[in-house]
Amino acid sequence: VPVVYLHEIKRQYTQGTETLTILNGAKLALWAGQSVALVAPSGAGKSTLLHIAGLLETPDDGEVYIGGAPTSQLSDIERTLIRRTDIGFVYQSHRLLPEFSALENVMLPQMIRGLKRAETVKRATEILAYLGLGDRIKHRPAELSGGEQQRVAIARAVANAPRVLFADEPTGNLDPHTADHVFGAMMQLVKATRVAMLIVTHNMELAGRMDRRVSLEEGQVVELD
Ligand code: ADP
Ligand code: ADP
Repeated sequence: VPVVYLHEIKRQYTQGTETLTILNGAKLALWAGQSVALVAPSGAGKSTLLHIAGLLETPDDGEVYIGGAPTSQLSDIERTLIRRTDIGFVYQSHRLLPEFSALENVMLPQMIRGLKRAETVKRATEILAYLGLGDRIKHRPAELSGGEQQRVAIARAVANAPRVLFADEPTGNLDPHTADHVFGAMMQLVKATRVAMLIVTHNMELAGRMDRRVSLEEGQVVELD
């Protein structure tokens, strides 16, 4: 079964008297160990799709399956638990906590889950080292370069070993060289951990290096190439 399966997702927004249909029967399967690029123009509904697939938002119609299990009947608490254990998010800006070190930022999601401190230190240290930040763990975000900050954000997103990672333009703020480095780290992670990955990007070169490319047209997911 896919890690995430979106079935006939519908999402509308009302603006004044107008109804905007953003997603209209969107279907998408995300598989373990597969990277998928989502490439579509601004306003096409990419963020909406990510938020629905990541259980941050509920669709008006349709069903989100995580590991084959439907999620529409779950309580908010149950959805939050799935989000914490199975789902990771990376955004265009790193959204790290400025007062905390890289290590502490990566430890936080595990602490929230109730893991023992020693265990979270060990795991966070390992992930940061894996992403090439072994000598940066005591640094605060402001003491790190843009690429390093974004790699810490990725480390934090995968700290709980999620089954799926959603990234909304994770390299959008980075220069081409740094973007390439961060992107490479993400591709390595997919193969090493078998996480399913959906990355929104406008960078066609990076999209071309992923396993699969999709777009959004008239509220539906279409496969490219
Ligand atoms: P993308 O990420 O592809 O740029 P979004 O999913 O952010 O697209 O938005 C798709 C459309 O839905 C846009 O036209 C946006 O203005 C509209 N939209 C998004 N969120 C809301 C909201 N909470 N209320 C009303 N309209 C929204
Ligand atoms: P890069 O070339 O890796 O994208 P920079 O040239 O901005 O990044 O930074 C080079 C190194 O200096 C980085 O590894 C970063 O950790 C360190 N660094 C950058 N800014 C600071 C700072 N304000 N305080 C401490 N270390 C910093």
